[in-house]
Amino acid sequence: MNILVTGGAGYIGSILTEELVANGHTVVVYDNLVMGHRAAVHSKAAFVEADIADTGVLTRTLKEHSIEAVMHLAAYTSVGESVANPEKYIQNNYVASVSLLDAMVEAGVTRIVFSSTAAVYGEPKKLPLTEEDETSPINTYGESKLAVEKALWKYNENHGLRFVALRYFNVGGASLHNGEWHDPETHLIPDILNTARGKDEILEIYGNDYPTPDGTCVRDYIHVKDLANAHILALNALDDFSGVYNLGTGIGNSVREVIEAARRITGAPIPVKFIERRPGDPAVLTASAEKIKRELGWKPQDDNLDKILGSYWLWLQNNPNGYDDKV
Ligand code: UDP
Repeated sequence: MNILVTGGAGYIGSILTEELVANGHTVVVYDNLVMGHRAAVHSKAAFVEADIADTGVLTRTLKEHSIEAVMHLAAYTSVGESVANPEKYIQNNYVASVSLLDAMVEAGVTRIVFSSTAAVYGEPKKLPLTEEDETSPINTYGESKLAVEKALWKYNENHGLRFVALRYFNVGGASLHNGEWHDPETHLIPDILNTARGKDEILEIYGNDYPTPDGTCVRDYIHVKDLANAHILALNALDDFSGVYNLGTGIGNSVREVIEAARRITGAPIPVKFIERRPGDPAVLTASAEKIKRELGWKPQDDNLDKILGSYWLWLQNNPNGYDDKV
């Protein structure tokens, strides 16, 4: 299939592109390189450097490359920033996504896999979260993604657009070629390993008074390669139906547990200090992924912290400057 990957020069998009190419698909990477990296664009993919809000370029790209499906990953993804600067998230994650749906309708493209998030749930009433649980986001990141999910249902009803929205829990790990590299970096696993290798002096832990066993937030960490595989399954299912799926492992790890695992794997001491809570953080988020396992046959292979941390640690050893010294 001819597939457009928005955000294909980013962390998850670049690894998803590797999997799509390996599965015989033809990929066009569409990325404005605000968060993505030119060096992360797959050598076998065509590349269009543009913004998803640029509806003219987007519509032309969809038509010129005879795109049959869109994987829509381009978004800002920092919870804290979304609370501090909500307009940025409303504009880029919601408004621009709706213009992407309009471009798809205009170009006659009827299939989309959308990167949604566990943040759509907000503070859970019970765990693990299933897709039927109430969505009540407590940060603008989650709100912006939930708004797109709602738009997808409307475009499904009114324009026959078929979609799968994948609600990512906490994605980590790397492939041999690509890994997470943001500036500034806000996500836990890169922050921990950047401290382990001395790039950062100390890891700040946001809060130690959450109602969890050790007082730090609990999250469900999923390997990026398992996540990428779920997209391929979703793509193959799109002819039959539309729907929403959680992508997690069902296992929760606290911030302290992730740090302990990283100390074990890297042998580094990883100094930490506790600071105040980060606004917009629920105490615990863990997924039931039974629906995607049952309906799409998803089988995660690398669903443990050691493989997640180990693969990313290896990538950092091989790429100590990330993409900064590559063209
Ligand atoms: N976190 C932390 N220090 C950091 C980065 C993150 O304590 O430097 C915590 C954060 O408060 C949350 C968890 O680690 O409880 C995972 O945060 P991340 O931003 O990686 O993902 P999120 O769950 O927000 O999508």
